[in-house]
Amino acid sequence: MTYSLNVCHLYGDLMNTYGDLGNILVLKYLANKMGVDLTSEVVSLDQPFDPDKYDIVVFGGGQDFEQSIISKDIQTKKQALTDFIEDNGSVVAICGGYQLLGHYYIGANGEKLMGIGALDHYTDKQKDHRFIGNVVIENEETGEKYHGFENHQGITFLGRGERPLGKVLEGHGNNGQDKTEGAIYKNVYCTYFHGPILARNNDIAKHVLMNALKRKYPDADLTAQENLKVGATF
Ligand code: GLN
Repeated sequence: MTYSLNVCHLYGDLMNTYGDLGNILVLKYLANKMGVDLTSEVVSLDQPFDPDKYDIVVFGGGQDFEQSIISKDIQTKKQALTDFIEDNGSVVAICGGYQLLGHYYIGANGEKLMGIGALDHYTDKQKDHRFIGNVVIENEETGEKYHGFENHQGITFLGRGERPLGKVLEGHGNNGQDKTEGAIYKNVYCTYFHGPILARNNDIAKHVLMNALKRKYPDADLTAQENLKVGATF
């Protein structure tokens, strides 16, 4: 192996309701095909996040109860996570993780859970309703289509510097109103797609790995990695 990448599975013990761990398995599988040794470890409650130690952060989805605990703890990691993101660190954030990277999330019971505001979105509540079902989106820059399954009561509105992960072709997406789904900010990919989205959408996994490699090895010739054919989206 010529290259190595280290993944932080942020609150991986609490935010893994939908098999988010599968995302790390996919990253590892594709990384190995690229000649990259990929390691990962969970960083959870009361543990510091060291931005210099990691190349990729995976922050999964969860239920309101877990989010209420994390909302408090993550404030202690706010500066370090913001520094990592501003320094072009790669992040995959799903559902509840996506919400907590923004300013706040209003839970189903009306409680306001503070995020870290590293990204400029905010998440309000729906009135006794959840968005549940299949979603198909198209990324307008690459033309790639992504497929997923959503299950969320929060409705998210994007802010400064954020562009959607895709335009909603089917399903509800961020808020059911503006046809946006997810967010991209610098090297951060956020989405409401559940669980192991990278297994269904290898293209996203490849972008995450390539961004991390380019950041860590700016002078390397990564043509072979760039040319790796990944599985089709399904
Ligand atoms: N609890 C949040 C919501 O209902 C996030 C759900 C999730 O992670 N899928 O919006």
